[in-house]
Amino acid sequence: MSSGDEVYIPRVTQLDSVEFDKEIAQVLKTQVTNISKVTPGSFLDILEPEITALLKFYIWKISVHRMHSTFGQHLLNLKYEGTLPRCKSYAWCILSIIPSYLKDRLGPKLSSHKTDAGFHMFYKIVQQLHIFVRVATLYNLLMFLRDGKYPTLLERVLRMRPVPASEQQRIVGYSFMTRELIWHTLIELLGNMIPLFNYYSLQRKVLSLFSKSEKKSCNREPVKLSFGDKCVVCKDTPILPHHMGCSHVYCFYCIQGNLLADINFQCPACGFSSENSQAVAIAVNTNQSTLLP
Ligand SMILES: [Zn+2]
Ligand SMILES: [Zn+2]
Repeated sequence: MSSGDEVYIPRVTQLDSVEFDKEIAQVLKTQVTNISKVTPGSFLDILEPEITALLKFYIWKISVHRMHSTFGQHLLNLKYEGTLPRCKSYAWCILSIIPSYLKDRLGPKLSSHKTDAGFHMFYKIVQQLHIFVRVATLYNLLMFLRDGKYPTLLERVLRMRPVPASEQQRIVGYSFMTRELIWHTLIELLGNMIPLFNYYSLQRKVLSLFSKSEKKSCNREPVKLSFGDKCVVCKDTPILPHHMGCSHVYCFYCIQGNLLADINFQCPACGFSSENSQAVAIAVNTNQSTLLP
């Protein structure tokens, strides 16, 4: 990758530094936005473009102007090549702040007045300029991927190339990322697999290994449904109460679902097994029937 005495810096490191810079600016902006939530009135909202520009100016002053590197570069052990001339530093400040400030401040006004004869021409020029910058940014990205020199358009225009600040190179470790990927895949696999296991069937098979299974005698007592009864499968108030011969109550879907999945399904409470289920006959108390609708 490196040719001659040129120092090779991984492209990912340079792109990471650009992303770090955006994140740092965003963190500061979020703090200001949080202040505007507790202050009366909305003057901070009105002055948002100015505040953003001021924050960018402050970041430039304590990073590029003072340290000759952005904060993102500083975090990744990079800096701008050579001794950064003051004129380049000021140009960096102006070009990184003024166009975006003008876009934030005048953009909404221009788009609302674009039908006016006077503004129309100006609006078209700004639009063309905007498209030109976008295309140039894309071109710069393609060039950067090829030569690995200037990650942003501004750096290419000003010929400000990031270089290592010291001999120590950043080593990108992927073991953590690989571990994360494996865990995520495993969790996803388990999430898809678990519903395929029939818990009751599995439980019955395991228990049958340790104890001699004998079919439980059928409890012929009529099933009485009282107010506090719960379905033995879902532990909730039974919906369309059913039973399969023992004294326990199930929801219709709980019993049918389990019988369909496992023909030898046993009552989880008493171990009784049957292939059929029946609706629970609700005995109506004639003394209280007047209370029922
Ligand atoms: Zn149920
Ligand atoms: Zn039972």
